[in-house]
Amino acid sequence: MSPRGAGPDQPKPPAPGKPPVVGVEKVTCACGHEADLPLFDDRRDRLYRDVRRKKLAAGPCPDCRRQAHAELTARQQAEAARRKAARPAPPAPKQKASQPPAGRLPDGSEFRVTYDAAAERWVGTLTVPTPEGGKAFEGEAGAVFRLLGLLDRRYRAWLAAQATPSAGGAAGGSGGAGG
Ligand SMILES: [Zn+2]
Repeated sequence: MSPRGAGPDQPKPPAPGKPPVVGVEKVTCACGHEADLPLFDDRRDRLYRDVRRKKLAAGPCPDCRRQAHAELTARQQAEAARRKAARPAPPAPKQKASQPPAGRLPDGSEFRVTYDAAAERWVGTLTVPTPEGGKAFEGEAGAVFRLLGLLDRRYRAWLAAQATPSAGGAAGGSGGAGG
């Protein structure tokens, strides 16, 4: 084939549209550091060199500008993270507030409620079947639903007490067994 002559040592040609840099001038920036002001061919640069020099001197040097930018970015990220953390979590799905306690009344349970107009009270009983023949819970309340709930809770309290073995209970008789 035809090997090209361009070796790695060849000087880089100037980028198209940009004049070649003929020198560098040190300019003191607003931050106090020195920065390089590239100088171009006098004929092309005479008008703009002073403008560029003033512009460079008016602001921070490239290093400081980079650092300021990095600090600004870090600050914005920290701020965003803080805002995200401060945002209240989405509310958890609400449990139904008036859910009755788990478990249903036994089969054949009976509410018997009567309204006493003079007293403006509901009076009633809840009877649940038991092996012993039934257990009644009595109560009264101003509202019928409140009364039903009250009787229901009384039944459940009793049920819980049944499940808990009583400490002081003495079972069985002592005495002369034998025979
Ligand atoms: Zn600086």
